[in-house]
Amino acid sequence: MSTPIPSEGPFANAPKRRWLLTQNRQLRAEGIFNFPLPAWAGRFPDGTTYNACPEAGACAKLCYARVGTYRWPVVLAAHERNLWMTKYALADWEAQMAEEIRHKRYLGKWIRLHDSGDFHSDAYLAAWLRIMRNAPEGIWFYCYTKSVSRFRRMVEPNPPENFLWCYSLGGIEDHLLDLEADRHADVFPGVDGLEAAGYSDQTESDLLSVLSESHKVGIPANRIPMLLKRQGDLRFSELQRALDKKLAEKRQRAAANGLDLAS
Ligand code: SF4
Repeated sequence: MSTPIPSEGPFANAPKRRWLLTQNRQLRAEGIFNFPLPAWAGRFPDGTTYNACPEAGACAKLCYARVGTYRWPVVLAAHERNLWMTKYALADWEAQMAEEIRHKRYLGKWIRLHDSGDFHSDAYLAAWLRIMRNAPEGIWFYCYTKSVSRFRRMVEPNPPENFLWCYSLGGIEDHLLDLEADRHADVFPGVDGLEAAGYSDQTESDLLSVLSESHKVGIPANRIPMLLKRQGDLRFSELQRALDKKLAEKRQRAAANGLDLAS
């Protein structure tokens, strides 16, 4: 196996590591591997800013990956290194990922593209599509994503056979989804309201996000007190709708004053 990149840039002196794909506690219990990015926006060690979730909306304030262990310096640095590679050394990263997934430890396994972060550019998504199309048989890939328009353009017309996805609500492109037709996940304040709303509980396995019979997947909110308090009694989809409404009103007021906030 080749030495993991990057060999230059702000992470060139980071500790060497063997694998790009990792497992957190929950995913390890299910035998799932994962490629994590940092959640939402931040700054690389060289001062360059980034946004790993350009379509994040209401979710950004309620994101489990912006608190706790995800913010431990060593963990965040590893996720930022992943992101940096996919932004500034994409061809090398793609070659390394394509080689890594040929290792026997991935045979018969699922690989989740991001337990935090999202598809931040067309080029990055295109790289994953090539990797999946050329992957050995017996490996499957899945993801949650808020990149609705990117997936409509780049994935839906011709998806790789070994790839499943679930749109997740709480993003600025929620309005592009048809909730009666598109597989999607919503985060509920607790399990109680979830089934009553016609959603199937994904708690038992993360893979239910893409394998459940129902295309409406309910996720009970992470039990982090600060985030629960912020979420209140509402679902991510409801919080996003409220945000969309507020923004539309702001735009209307601005237009009435001769300003254009759309650009
Ligand atoms: S898109 Fe996902 S990782 Fe990014 S801020 Fe929202 S919930 Fe967090």
